Amino acid sequence: MGGIGICVEGDNSTQLPAVSDRAAEAISHFPNKMYAFIWRNWNLVDINQMSKVLETKPVNIVQIAKMMGLPQYVKPTWSIQQIYITLLRRNWHILPYSQLMTLTNLSDSELAQKLREDDFLYVKLGNIKPVCDAVHYSEPTKADIRKLARIAQVVHTDFGSTVNKPEVPRFAFINDLTHVDPEVNSQDNQKSRFELRYIYSYFGLFGDPLFDNDPNLYPDGLLQKLSRMGINGVWLHVVLRDMAPGGEAFPEFGKGHEQRLLHLRELVDRAKKYGIGVYLYMNEPRAMPKAFFKNRPDMEGVSEGDYSAMCVSNPIVHKWLTDALAYLFKEVPALGGIFSITGSENLTTCVSHGQFASCERCSKKTDTELIADVNSAMEEGVHRSAPNAKVIVWDWGWRGHQIAPDIISQLPNNIWLMSVSEWALPLQRGGISTQVGEYSISAVGPGPRAQTHWEAAQKRGLKTAAKMQLNNSWEIASVPFNPAMDLVAQHCWNLASSGVNGLMLSWSLGGYPSMNLLMSKMFDRDPLPSVDEALDEMARNYYGEKGKAFARKGWTRLSNAFKEFPYNGSVLYFAPTQIGPANLLRLKPSGYTATMVGIPYDDLKTWRGPYPADVFINQLQKVADGYTEGASMLQKAVTLAPNKHLCEVQQQARYAETIGLIYQSAANQSRFILLRDEWLDAKTSTVRKQELRNSMMEIVQKEITLAKKLYVLTKEDSCIGFEASNHYWFVPDDLIEKVISCRYILDELKSDHLNIMKNKI
Ligand SMILES: [Zn+2]
Repeated sequence: MGGIGICVEGDNSTQLPAVSDRAAEAISHFPNKMYAFIWRNWNLVDINQMSKVLETKPVNIVQIAKMMGLPQYVKPTWSIQQIYITLLRRNWHILPYSQLMTLTNLSDSELAQKLREDDFLYVKLGNIKPVCDAVHYSEPTKADIRKLARIAQVVHTDFGSTVNKPEVPRFAFINDLTHVDPEVNSQDNQKSRFELRYIYSYFGLFGDPLFDNDPNLYPDGLLQKLSRMGINGVWLHVVLRDMAPGGEAFPEFGKGHEQRLLHLRELVDRAKKYGIGVYLYMNEPRAMPKAFFKNRPDMEGVSEGDYSAMCVSNPIVHKWLTDALAYLFKEVPALGGIFSITGSENLTTCVSHGQFASCERCSKKTDTELIADVNSAMEEGVHRSAPNAKVIVWDWGWRGHQIAPDIISQLPNNIWLMSVSEWALPLQRGGISTQVGEYSISAVGPGPRAQTHWEAAQKRGLKTAAKMQLNNSWEIASVPFNPAMDLVAQHCWNLASSGVNGLMLSWSLGGYPSMNLLMSKMFDRDPLPSVDEALDEMARNYYGEKGKAFARKGWTRLSNAFKEFPYNGSVLYFAPTQIGPANLLRLKPSGYTATMVGIPYDDLKTWRGPYPADVFINQLQKVADGYTEGASMLQKAVTLAPNKHLCEVQQQARYAETIGLIYQSAANQSRFILLRDEWLDAKTSTVRKQELRNSMMEIVQKEITLAKKLYVLTKEDSCIGFEASNHYWFVPDDLIEKVISCRYILDELKSDHLNIMKNKI
C-alpha cells in the first residue's frame, strides 16, 4: 500500500457506503452501548459534542463517567480534524452514520468523501458498516448501576490513583517538534554522499493541507530538526487539477488553485531556509466521475465503479498533464521536483490498474509504452519551467520484474529512477520461505528487484534513488521509530556502497526526526565508515563512554530478535501488531474479518498469512523476548548516559519496551484464540475444556499485566499509538478498557467453571 488520498473539491456526488446487514459487535463488558460510547470518547471529544450525540446534558455524562471510575474531564486541545479517524474506528460498532456525523462534525458528503478518498479509510474500517441502533442517554437502571460499580472497582483495584495522575496530553509531541532551537545552525546539508534524502511529515494532516494551510504540515521546528538529521527534501501529496487551471479543455479544474499555490510558495520558501526542497507526489491524472465525460466521450478511458480514467492516449489529456505541471513549476519555480506512481494507487491512466486492453486507444499500445508515456508527459511539463527540478519516476506497482527495464529504456534522459530497496529479498522465517514486498526493517535491502532496476537505469546514465523505511514500517508503526539500530545501520551502509544517488526515507509513516534518521548521515563521509564504527560512534554520542557498551548490546539484541519477525503482507496489514494489548480478547468469536492496519478483531487466520499458527506464535514470541531483553539493556545504558541526550535515549528504551509488549500481546492473543476455538468446540471433552479454560485464564491474566505496563508508557509519551494516516490507534483509557474487558472475561470463565461443576454434581 502506498495511497495518500485527497478530498475531491466541489464533488458532492459521493454517497455514504450502504449499511450492511451485519449486526455490530457486542461490547459485553459495558451494560450497553451508551456506556461504551461514554468510555471511548471521554477526554477525546469535547463533552458538548458528546452531549449532542446522546441528546442529554453534559452533567449526566460526567455523572456516568464518574460512576465508571474514568479520570476527571479535561477539555481536549486538539481539533476533530486531527482525530476523526480514531473516532470513526472506535465508534464504528457503536454509532450509526448519523451519530458518527454529529460526533465528528462532518456532513454526509464530507464523511463519504473521507471514507472514499482518505488513505484507504473505508478499507481500513473493513469495507463494511455494521448495523448500529442510535445511542441515546437513559438513566442507569439498578442492574446498570451494579455493573458500573464492578467496572469502577476494576479501575480502582488495577490502576489505583494512577488514573487521576495527569498524563502527557495526546499530540503533545507537536509542541516539542515545532519548537525552533535558536542555537542550532539551520542549514546543515551542504555535503552528502546522497544528493537527495527526502521524507514525509510525522504529523501532517490528510485531506487538502495546502488549501487549508495546515500549520502542522511542515512547521519550522520540524524542518530544522529534519535538517539536522541530514534531510534535504520533504514531500506532500497534491491533486494536479487542484493546482492549475484547466484551460479551455477543462474549465472545471483549478478551483482554489491560487490559494494552494500561495501556501505552497510560502512552504517552499520556509523549507529553503533549512536547505530543504519540497517535492510533490504525482499519481495522475486522477479519474473523474463518469458525468465529466458526457461531452468528452473520446477522453474517457477505462472505468472503475462510477469513475473513469482520463485517457492519456488522447492528445488533449496528454497536453493538459504537461501544461498543468509547466504552469505549476512556473508559478513555484523553487520546488524541488516531483515523484510519480504510475502503476498503482488511485485509478489514473488506463494502464494504472492494468486493464488498458479495454480502452480502444490504449489497447493499441503496450503497457510499457503507456507507463513511459505518462512519465514523459509529466517530465516535459516540469522541465519546461524548471529545468533543474528533479523528476523521480517510482517503479512501484509496475507488474512483473521483466517489464521495468523495458520501461526504463523508454524514459526521458533527465529523470531519476526510484525503487523500493528491500523488495523481493528472499526470506526464511521459522522455516517458512517468503519474499519481502516492502515496508521491512527486519529484512535489510537492497534486494534483487531494486538492484536490477537501478542497473538498467544507471546503464542509461539515469540517477537512482532507494525508497526505504528507516524509522518504522508496517511491521510496527505505533511507535515513531524502531531502535533495531544494527539493521538500520547495515541498510544505510549497503545503500551508501551501492552507488544510488538518493534516498526516500519514508512513506506516510516514519517521518520522525530520530537517531534512526541520523544513521543515514553517519555514512556520508569518506572513507565510508564500517557498520560497527558508525554504531560505536552513535552509541558514544548518545549514551557516553560508560553507556556505550550497554547500548550496543541492546541494539544488537533488538536487531537479532527483529530478524525473526514473521514477515508477510498479511501479517503486516492485519495482525494486532500496531494496537497490541489495546485489542480486546473475545470470548465469543466476533465473526469479523481483520481490516488493513485498522481493526484486527480475533481473526487469527488472516493475521498469520502463510505461517502455521504455532510458527506464527513462536516467531512473535522470539521478537517479544528479544525486545524485552534489549529494552532492559537500553534501560541500563540510559542510567549511564549524559544528560545532554537523556530525552532521546529514554525514548529509545521506551519504544523498545513498547514493541516488546505489543508483540507479546499479539502472541498471547493468538494463543487465546486457538484455545478458545477448541474450548467452544462441541466435540471437546469436559476434562479438556477444564484445561483449556485454565490456560485461557492464564493468558487473560498476562494480558492484564501487559495492558497495565503499556498504560504507564502510553501515558508518559504522546507518540505511542500514533501514526499520521491512522491518527491514534489507541490512547491510555483503551488499556484500562482492556483490563475491564479481561476481568469481565475472567468472571465469565469462572461462572462457566461453576456451571460445569454444577452439572457434574
Ligand atoms: Zn486509454
